[in-house]
Amino acid sequence: MRYLTEPRRPHQTQWCAGNVFSIGMAIENGQHTSFDVVVLGAGIVGVSTAFHLKLLGLDVALVDRSHPGEEASFGNAGIIQCNGFVPHAIPLNPVQILSILFGQSSAVSCDLKKVVSLAPWLRKYHAASSGRGIEHYSRAIAPLRALAAQDHLELARLSIAERFYRKGGWLHLYRSDSSFREDEVERHYARVHGVSYDELSKDETSTLEPGLKPVHVKAVHWSESCSVSNPGAVVDAFWRGYIQAGGRSFRGDARKLQRQRGTWRIECERGPISARNVVVALGAWSMDLLKEFGEDFPLVAKRGYHMHYQPEPGASLSRPVVDVDNGFALTPTDNGIRLTTGVELTDRDAPANLNIIKLAKRRASELFPLGNALQEAPWLGSRPCLPDSLPVFGASYKTPGLWLNFGHAHDGFTLGPVTGRLLAEQIAGKDTGLDLTAFAPSRFAI
Ligand SMILES: Cc1cc2nc3c(=O)[nH]c(=O)nc-3n(C[C@H](O)[C@H](O)[C@H](O)COP(=O)(O)OP(=O)(O)OC[C@H]3O[C@@H](n4cnc5c(N)ncnc54)[C@H](O)[C@@H]3O)c2cc1C
Repeated sequence: MRYLTEPRRPHQTQWCAGNVFSIGMAIENGQHTSFDVVVLGAGIVGVSTAFHLKLLGLDVALVDRSHPGEEASFGNAGIIQCNGFVPHAIPLNPVQILSILFGQSSAVSCDLKKVVSLAPWLRKYHAASSGRGIEHYSRAIAPLRALAAQDHLELARLSIAERFYRKGGWLHLYRSDSSFREDEVERHYARVHGVSYDELSKDETSTLEPGLKPVHVKAVHWSESCSVSNPGAVVDAFWRGYIQAGGRSFRGDARKLQRQRGTWRIECERGPISARNVVVALGAWSMDLLKEFGEDFPLVAKRGYHMHYQPEPGASLSRPVVDVDNGFALTPTDNGIRLTTGVELTDRDAPANLNIIKLAKRRASELFPLGNALQEAPWLGSRPCLPDSLPVFGASYKTPGLWLNFGHAHDGFTLGPVTGRLLAEQIAGKDTGLDLTAFAPSRFAI
C-alpha cells in the first residue's frame, strides 16, 4: 500500500502485543518455533487462508512485512460481487484507444513501453477475455462467486466484524444506450448462472440513489451482492479473529524464505520459524519470491488509486456505484466517499501518475456532488493479475510443500475468504467438493 505522501490511516492498530511477546520470548530463549504451515502475506487472501487453517486445527504462522491488510486489500472499492462473469476486457473501440493514448481515459492508463513489453501477455489476456475465453472464465468463477458472500460473513461472524457489511447490492451506471448494450454479455452470463439483477431507468435509479446526478441513461442493480464500509478494517478484524483462535503472527520479509531438507525456514524480525508447508499469498509481490524457487507464473500488477471525499451537504450514497463508461467506482465508506480508479498498466513500482485519478475525479463530480478531499494525497495499490483473470490456488506442481494463493485481480476482496477456505481444506487433506482444475497452478505448466 502506498499513500503517496500521507501514511496515517484511521483504523491503524498495533501488532497484537501479547502474541508477539510470547513468540519473541520463545525465540530470545534460543527456541526455534516450528509450525504445520507458514502463510506468507497478510492481505485478505493470506489472512483468510491462515484463519481457515487455524479453524481446521493446524498450527499456523502468518508472516508479513507490515501490518495485515495494508496493500490492495486496504484500498479497494469494498464490493463483494456475486456477479462478474466476464473478465475486464482490453478496450478495442477506436475512440477508447485514442483516449487512452492521449491520456484522457479514466478507465485505463498505460505506459506504452510497458504495453510493448507485455504484448505476449496481453495477447493471452485478450484471448481469455473474449469469445470462448469468457465461457471458460464464467464457468470457472461462478461456483466461487456463489460462495463468496457467505464465506465473508462466516469469517465476519467469527471476528465480530459484521458491522462493516451492508446489503443493498451495487449499481452499474451507463451513460449511453450503446454502453448498456455492450454489457449485455455480463447480464447473459448472470442469467445463465442464476444471479438476478434489475434494469433501472434513469428515474428508477434516482429513486434508489437520490444523491446521484442524472447523467446516466440506465443502470443495473446487482441486488444480491453486498459491500463493506472499510475493507482494511475487515482484514484487520479477520486477523484479530485468527489471533484470538490461537494463530501466530510474525513480521518478516518473505524473500528470506529458504528450503532445507524438505523443511521451509524463514528468518523473521524476532528469529527463525519453520514449517513443512508454506503458502505464498503475497498478492502482486508473489513472483518476487517464487522466481527464486524456479516457479514461473505470468503475474502482472494492474495498479489503481483511491481518494476520499466529503459529500456536499445533503448528498448521500447508500451503496457502491460504478460508472461503466469511465471505469471508476464511488463507494460510501467510514472515511467518506471513496473514489477508486480503473487500471494503470505500468511497472508495479513505478512512480505514481496522478492523471487517472484526476480524470476520474472530474467525471465522478458529474455523477455525484463530491465536496472536500479528505486526504492529502491519493492511495496507490496493485491488483495481482494472471492472463486468464483467474486466481491460482493449490499445490505447486514443482515444489513439494509449496502452496499458492494469489492472482485475484479485480476480485480479491470478494474471493479471498472463499479461496482461503478452499486452499486450507486442500492442505488439510479435506475434499472441497468442487472441481478446482481451472485454478490449479499446473495450468501454467509449459
Ligand atoms: C483500486 C482498486 C479497487 C478494487 N476494488 C475491488 C472490489 O471492489 N472488490 C474486490 O473483490 N476486489 C477489488 N480490488 C482487488 C483486490 O483489492 C485485490 O485483488 C486483493 O486485495 C488482493 O489481495 P491479496 O491478499 O492477494 O494482496 P494484498 O492485499 O496486496 O496483500 C499482499 C500482502 O503481501 C505482503 N507482502 C508483499 N511482499 C512481501 C514480502 N517481501 N514480505 C512479506 N510480506 C510481503 C504485503 O505487505 C501485503 O500485506 C480492487 C483493487 C484495487 C487496486
